[in-house]
Amino acid sequence: MSIIIKDEKELFNYKWETKKCERIDGDCWCRAIFPKKKLMINYGNDELEEVYIIPSGCVDKDVAEYIVKLHNKELNNEKKR
Ligand SMILES: [Zn+2]
Repeated sequence: MSIIIKDEKELFNYKWETKKCERIDGDCWCRAIFPKKKLMINYGNDELEEVYIIPSGCVDKDVAEYIVKLHNKELNNEKKR
């Protein structure tokens, strides 16, 4: 099940999660960051593409988990307002 969004900014309205690297078997140093729900967008080439925040191979596990923690916490705070 996926959600189609019209604007990339909408991804800020959804919780995020870290994802293990799919290119390497076992535990890699990096983590990708994706929305928890599968978000799809059409960038204008008649094709739906999955929206991600940070692809694998860019940030290490600790940084990725920290970013996700901050974002999800902020999202919860916004909903409480
Ligand atoms: Zn990796």
